[in-house]
Amino acid sequence: MEIPKSKLSFKYIALRTFFAVLAAFLISSLKLDFIESYFFDLRTVIKTFFEPKQIDTPIAIVLIDDKTIEKLQGDPKFKDHIRFINQVSSHNPKYIIYEFRINDNNEFIDITGTLEEKKEFADAVKNIPNLAVSTQDLQMRGVMQKPTLAPPLDGLTLFSMPFTADNKSFGNDGVSRRIMFQYQDKSMMQPIIASYYNPEIQNVERIRGQFFYLDSLQTYINFHAKGSFPSYKFEDVIDQKVPKNAFENKIVILGSDAEKSIKDYASTPFSRESTAMTKVELQANQIQTLIDNNSPVRVPKPIDIVITILISMFTVYVTLSLTPARGLLILGATLFGVAFIATFFFIVFGLWLDLAHPFLAIFLCYYFFIPYRLIRENRKSWEYYQKHKLLSEVEQLKTNFISMMSHDLKTPIARITGMTEVIYKDPVQLSPHQREALDTIRHSSDDLLKFINAILQYGSIESQGVQLHKQSKDINQLVADVVKKHQFLANVKKIKIVQELEPMFPTSVDPELMKQVFSNLLENAIKYSPDESMVHIRTREENDSLIIEFQDQGMGIPQEDLPNIFMKFFRTHNAKTTTIKGSGLGLYLAQYFVELHKGKITVDSSQDKGSKFTVELPLDK
Ligand code: ADP
Repeated sequence: MEIPKSKLSFKYIALRTFFAVLAAFLISSLKLDFIESYFFDLRTVIKTFFEPKQIDTPIAIVLIDDKTIEKLQGDPKFKDHIRFINQVSSHNPKYIIYEFRINDNNEFIDITGTLEEKKEFADAVKNIPNLAVSTQDLQMRGVMQKPTLAPPLDGLTLFSMPFTADNKSFGNDGVSRRIMFQYQDKSMMQPIIASYYNPEIQNVERIRGQFFYLDSLQTYINFHAKGSFPSYKFEDVIDQKVPKNAFENKIVILGSDAEKSIKDYASTPFSRESTAMTKVELQANQIQTLIDNNSPVRVPKPIDIVITILISMFTVYVTLSLTPARGLLILGATLFGVAFIATFFFIVFGLWLDLAHPFLAIFLCYYFFIPYRLIRENRKSWEYYQKHKLLSEVEQLKTNFISMMSHDLKTPIARITGMTEVIYKDPVQLSPHQREALDTIRHSSDDLLKFINAILQYGSIESQGVQLHKQSKDINQLVADVVKKHQFLANVKKIKIVQELEPMFPTSVDPELMKQVFSNLLENAIKYSPDESMVHIRTREENDSLIIEFQDQGMGIPQEDLPNIFMKFFRTHNAKTTTIKGSGLGLYLAQYFVELHKGKITVDSSQDKGSKFTVELPLDK
């Protein structure tokens, strides 16, 4: 039973949508942060391609590297730092940040010297209020005492300027991606320093992209590529080799790049190496992000779910409705398209669209629905196969039945014809009325016999095909024989048969079959032509072929019937409206026999303009 199309498609659409939405919800509920972090990093890297090498920044960094240590014959001592601070201060910086490791006794690890020198350093920094010594320690709620360095440096306050790394969250890969700018309602030092340049963020609620995480407020770092901040060497600063006013109004961050401890470094979206970036540069990135207040904003979860649902529905539609190759192409393009749009939003608007869930939706929906489609199509082709088998069995039965019937009809027809001849030859004079009746009987039984013969031939073609019995024959002779046989029929309709037969070499054909082809064509030409018209038969050699044409001035064949004219049992509309009898098998058999000889038969005709049938046979080599 046929299901109405509208009902079928509605049911299917509803079912597909249901499964797509279900799949999308399942996929969205998966925690794919480790993949998402990878896509975040990738977008960060791509973003930096579009940035200038040196960014416009109020931050300058100063590094102590191996060369510095070599030159000073060891880590810079307190006395070197006194020179450093005096030099930098002479430029009138906004802030100096000491980014050094501190041990449990609250002493600098990499700055040493005698007690005297230490005291001198303490005296020197006393006059510099805008100096901050960074610490990872967070001042806990309720603890009033501010943490300080151990005496004699206890005049120096330690400021919480923490770093975070994704060790137990998000990417789980130890990469630094976040800034913690507030902990237990207490602001960290980075937003305070950044607010000198961007007063808007004095109100931390204004910090873009912020989220709550473990009693703290955080946001994502808008990274700049390594080397984006102007960087100076420690020894150049103390030797006064840096340009005048290089630090004027700047935030100067001093720290180590001597590869002494991995604690001086962090891994970043650019590289997961543990020494990918100095903490100094990471701190610069954190503060710069807050100054520009342009942290990437992660779009809310519901939007991620909606995008995943839409992508799932689209994937299911493409997988089930398009051809496999095209579907794959479109899904590939969708994958790139989504990645491109997400990257564009990230770079231009700082919007972070999740990619892991939509991508997984494309893969899963594709791999889940492809087998479903295969099963469905397999079942369909199996049904087609069964139907086809049944049809050919029915066709076979029909052919057998027609052949059997026709065969059995041949004997009574032969008897009728025989008896008619007996009456014709009887010396008893027939009345004109009786003679007319006898003529009708003879014609009718002739027609019937032709019809039965055509059916029998058709039956044998369909069941076992026809064997060729070829002989070398003069085609013109065969044509002449056929004309002779049909002369009586032509005379009845006063039709003139004109033969223009060029002499030709004999060629090997099955004479009986070929005669039948010509008979069918000539008989049609006479049958479908008006009285007193002409039928032309022409033969000639052309290249390696023999051409035999039958042209009449008859009713012609309508344009729309021409493509079907050689089909079995086909009769044109104009022929069916006349009293001319026919089985629709003559041309089918003619074409079959001609093609058996590796020739071809064509027709050129239009309604009321006559018809020309052309048989082309290959010449013997
Ligand atoms: P039929 O026994 O009906 O003549 P054919 O297979 O010989 O069967 O021809 C198929 C149909 O093609 C005919 O029924 C007729 O409609 C059309 N046809 C064939 N020959 C001619 C012709 N010379 N002029 C017009 N129509 C023709």
